[in-house]
Amino acid sequence: MHELSLVQGLLSQLRTLAQQHSAISINRVRVEVGPFAGIVIDSFQFAFDILAKESELMKNAELEIIIPPTQYKCFQCKNVLISDHDMPESCPQCESTVLVPEGGDGLILLQVEME
Ligand SMILES: [Zn+2]
Repeated sequence: MHELSLVQGLLSQLRTLAQQHSAISINRVRVEVGPFAGIVIDSFQFAFDILAKESELMKNAELEIIIPPTQYKCFQCKNVLISDHDMPESCPQCESTVLVPEGGDGLILLQVEME
C-alpha cells in the first residue's frame, strides 16, 4: 500500500522533529496533500492511526489532512480557475476549452503541535 510507506516517512520525519525539540508527545499533525498526489485519504488516515498508536511519542496524535483545491490554468489567456470539483468546461474569460490542471502532487508537513 502506497499510503503506508508515505505514513512511515511522515512518522520518521515527526520523530526527528520531536528529538530536535526534546518533545515527549506529539498532539496534532497537519499535512497538506496535493490534489495530484494520488493518495487515498481514508487509507492514509487508517495507516496513520495504526502506526502512530504503536509509538509512545505519537499515540495521541491527531492527524488533520488538508487538500487544497485544484487549479486550472487556461492555456490561451493564462487565466487561473480554482475548482473544488470537476474541471470547468471552459475559461469564463476567453471561452477556450483548453484548461491545464495545476496543483501539488506531494505530501507537505504544515504544522506539528508537540510538548
Ligand atoms: Zn482563457
